Amino acid sequence: MNRLVIIIGCILGLIISLIILFSNTDNDTKQSHSPLILHVDAHTMYTPEAMHEDLNQLASVYPTWMRVDSIGKSHFGKDIAVVYLGHGRPQILIVGAHHGREWMTTMVLVKALAEYAKAASNNFELGGYDVSALLDAVTLIIVPMLNPDGVMIAQSGLPKGGDHALLENANEKNSDFTRWKANGRGVNLNIQYAANWEQAVSEPKPHYEKYKGPEPESERESRALAELVRDLEPEMVLAYHSSGQVIYWQYDQQDAQLIRDQKIGQEIASLTGYLLAVEPREDSHAGFKDWFIHKYQKPGFTIEIGSSVGDQSLPIAHFDQVWEKNKLVLLYVANLVAR
Ligand SMILES: [Zn+2]
Repeated sequence: MNRLVIIIGCILGLIISLIILFSNTDNDTKQSHSPLILHVDAHTMYTPEAMHEDLNQLASVYPTWMRVDSIGKSHFGKDIAVVYLGHGRPQILIVGAHHGREWMTTMVLVKALAEYAKAASNNFELGGYDVSALLDAVTLIIVPMLNPDGVMIAQSGLPKGGDHALLENANEKNSDFTRWKANGRGVNLNIQYAANWEQAVSEPKPHYEKYKGPEPESERESRALAELVRDLEPEMVLAYHSSGQVIYWQYDQQDAQLIRDQKIGQEIASLTGYLLAVEPREDSHAGFKDWFIHKYQKPGFTIEIGSSVGDQSLPIAHFDQVWEKNKLVLLYVANLVAR
């Protein structure tokens, strides 16, 4: 009788051990092979929250290649994320969503982070570039969404916090906020930098798209970005905007600098199929790329993604096409500065 109890006990113990063993193995398998499901591929409106979730997920899957940090808070207190991709000393700074309604630029940059980190981790090439070698040689510093407050206003209208009277007046009493470009205080963040700011054309007060603020870097977001540039002094900047399929590259360059920057611009134009163009002089003061070129005599570009759609966001259905045109741009510029 006792022997039978011991035998049954042993068999039960073995079964329980096997169940525990297999259930653990199953969990490990699920964790190590869990697919990376990013919001950026969902083809729905890309919110600041979706972006933060994607960046955190990517950083946990590819810790060798990327690190997420913050350059400060927006006017409404939202974190302004920055991502460091790669390990090299020469650095290139890329910025998306200076303007609220232009949130597809954030999608392009997060998609680039995901594709490049994956290629580097798995040692495969993209467009003929050895991505892991490139990211060992260069660091891409990406601020995918400089203006989370403006994005939120363009996507959802009046926010919970914020000065509603100011925002309503800035939107000219129009209840449709989808055209909103400014930050949470009605300042256009791309007329905020110290490159002949005094001459920049502006509305006299907060406005959904045309107010340059009381002085350069008066806004938390533009100041945080300018501080990052002063700290790092990158080799080049790219500012992603929409729309128009145009690349702007010029601001007071002379001689060899002019030729150098035009050549890089032409190369980005041929990669994307976008037009290399010169802005009307009155539109080209106090912008981010203007300030960078003016202050450092290094190349800076504004890339306007997507076909012209006027005062609105690019339709989400355009994303795949926009990505196809832009997917090699950051690898091309990385390769230029790699040493
Ligand atoms: Zn813009």
